[in-house]
Amino acid sequence: MSLTTDGRAPGPVRFFLACDRRGCQERITFDMVIAEPPPDLEQDLFGHMLHEAGHATPYIKELGWIFIEGGEGYWCPDCATPPSLRHAPDEEE
Ligand SMILES: [Zn+2]
Repeated sequence: MSLTTDGRAPGPVRFFLACDRRGCQERITFDMVIAEPPPDLEQDLFGHMLHEAGHATPYIKELGWIFIEGGEGYWCPDCATPPSLRHAPDEEE
């Protein structure tokens, strides 16, 4: 999984997202301020660990990145678009 974080909620968290498609070098960094603290580690280990990533998921989708089920991680918008749907750079709508 190629989403990593620097910082912990509550507060500003920096996210690093890299495309997992073989050969693709696309990567982005963005910051989010997460106000809610994560659930207690002992009561909800999974929720605790995924707290920051869970907040970033909708934003990542908005950016056009998709999560590949099956452990392949994240693909950037270019990789997520099937070749048949891509437009040539000089093609007008
Ligand atoms: Zn890519």
